[in-house]
Amino acid sequence: MSPFLATGRSPLATLTLVTLPPMSLYTRWSRALRDLYPFPVFKIPLHAGFTCPNRDGSKAYGGCVYCDNRSFAPNARGPRAELQDQLVQGKRRIRWREPGAKFIAYYQAYSNTHAPAEELKAIYDVAARDPDVVGISIGTRPDCASESVLDVIEALRTPARRVWVEYGLESSHEASLVWMNRCHSAADFADAVKRTAARGLSVVGHVILGIPGETPGMMRETARFIAELPVDSMKIHHLYVSPHTALEGMWKRGEVAVPTLEQHVAAAADFLEILPERVSIQRLIGELPGEWCVAPDWGLGKREIHAAIEAELLSRGTRQGSRAPQTAGAR
Ligand code: SF4
Repeated sequence: MSPFLATGRSPLATLTLVTLPPMSLYTRWSRALRDLYPFPVFKIPLHAGFTCPNRDGSKAYGGCVYCDNRSFAPNARGPRAELQDQLVQGKRRIRWREPGAKFIAYYQAYSNTHAPAEELKAIYDVAARDPDVVGISIGTRPDCASESVLDVIEALRTPARRVWVEYGLESSHEASLVWMNRCHSAADFADAVKRTAARGLSVVGHVILGIPGETPGMMRETARFIAELPVDSMKIHHLYVSPHTALEGMWKRGEVAVPTLEQHVAAAADFLEILPERVSIQRLIGELPGEWCVAPDWGLGKREIHAAIEAELLSRGTRQGSRAPQTAGAR
């Protein structure tokens, strides 16, 4: 049990009692970037005009129960600008405060491999042509990674340009995947990750903690499932409710609950303990503007929640990788 729950203290109250160590207890993405690049690097989110097999009927209609891309992809909120213009504007926005910055072009909105290979090449080439782009990150689903798609993605990699492919798993439990209407299996994820990593591409995974019906033990099983795979980096989200989603209806009718802050802090700490240290952590919570989040409202910012998770690890005397399986997948 989390010491927060055991003592009845909230994570924030505990934060006032502990001094976090100067070295982070988990492998931050910012640290991983500093190891990879000798200059500051920032992601530019892009909306390339894709849809998703879970929305266009290829697999299903309506999408995953929690999904409204506008909640997490800023470029999906208004009229879509040309890809080139999105890139130029993103660079300008960042260089205003970081003149020496270079960039990772982040194909973020919807499923960014859901098109024929020749169309994908033209879309990715917008970023690949830009000399300031030192990385390309492509977010997609594990069932949208055919060999011909991976051929196109692999060709983007050069000594000066790293390429990440991001796959949503969300949970290793089939019942949870069915509940979310993901329309892919955990085996699809494992297969896509292995085939992608075998090409020397970097792999990012997504999970959601706090899925209704999942116990802390089930979430730890998902962590162990990922730890055994050649995943380089992780985005850990809490379950949140966005407007206009099927989940909003379920939550308003009282059919499902979202995690409390204490539950998320404990679950995220459990997850980090199981992930090997080589896996960098890009997110520990889902991040979205207030108007796009119906619930939960924890009343804390990202930094405070990250600090609460680190304080939880400190109070347990653990860190990322403390409970990683002996057989954790190497890279
Ligand atoms: S979360 Fe991803 S896979 Fe699910 S509906 Fe949204 S874009 Fe499609």
